[in-house]
Amino acid sequence: MSNWFDTHIHLDAPELSGQGLKLLPGAQQCGINRFIVPGVRVSGWAGMLALVENAKNVYLAPGLHPAYADQWTDAAASQLWELTQQSKVVAIGEIGLDGTVAIPLSQQEIVFRAQLDIALDAGLPVLLHVREATGAVLTILRELEIGQRIGGVWHGFSASLSVAEELVALGFKIGVGSILLRENARKLPDAVKVLPASALVLETDLPDMAEKPDVLLKVAEKVAELRDRTLEEVAQITTENARQLFRFQDEFIYGK
Ligand SMILES: [Zn+2]
Repeated sequence: MSNWFDTHIHLDAPELSGQGLKLLPGAQQCGINRFIVPGVRVSGWAGMLALVENAKNVYLAPGLHPAYADQWTDAAASQLWELTQQSKVVAIGEIGLDGTVAIPLSQQEIVFRAQLDIALDAGLPVLLHVREATGAVLTILRELEIGQRIGGVWHGFSASLSVAEELVALGFKIGVGSILLRENARKLPDAVKVLPASALVLETDLPDMAEKPDVLLKVAEKVAELRDRTLEEVAQITTENARQLFRFQDEFIYGK
């Protein structure tokens, strides 16, 4: 069976009422056996660490979502830095800019840059959340050379092929999720078709974007179809991309 890697799954989401880990056996039955849980609120960081402490192959990307940028304080910054020293922590996320929320972008940018600094200091890649702020985020990524220095994933990608190509040139991965399955999706399929295979990672963004972990396989089937590859080839390349980005030392044994 193929091995799949879900690079963005909110197992600690309040909607899952502390029962997120119960989704894992179903996911593992489909071969989805590596997971990264991104942070959203400061108040959630301790809980996400406790939740996954004994969960095998579940890793963390703590960080403050731009929609909650007003929670940022010096204490939050120290807490985030300390979390980077935990072995479960493999990235900082989800961080970025969101033009659709009430917090001014100027305030979000201060928080985004502060978290990028922590990621740079810790040498950890980042998971980006970007909505209606593509140009501003690209400018920051270029300026700080985030892709080249630590790498990262632009999560829930839905922008144009030219933005995707620029991101790839900047050393970023494209997080492909269930937006690809939308009837009216045009830009994302175009990008998925032609980007280098080394740029693609998969995500469910559960429970926001999906209800069951196996939506990852539906996304993968679409990727396979668009790129004219087998499902197994898509599994190998996307899982290997994630493994390299998050600097996993263990080797996956394919086909088991
Ligand atoms: Zn998310």
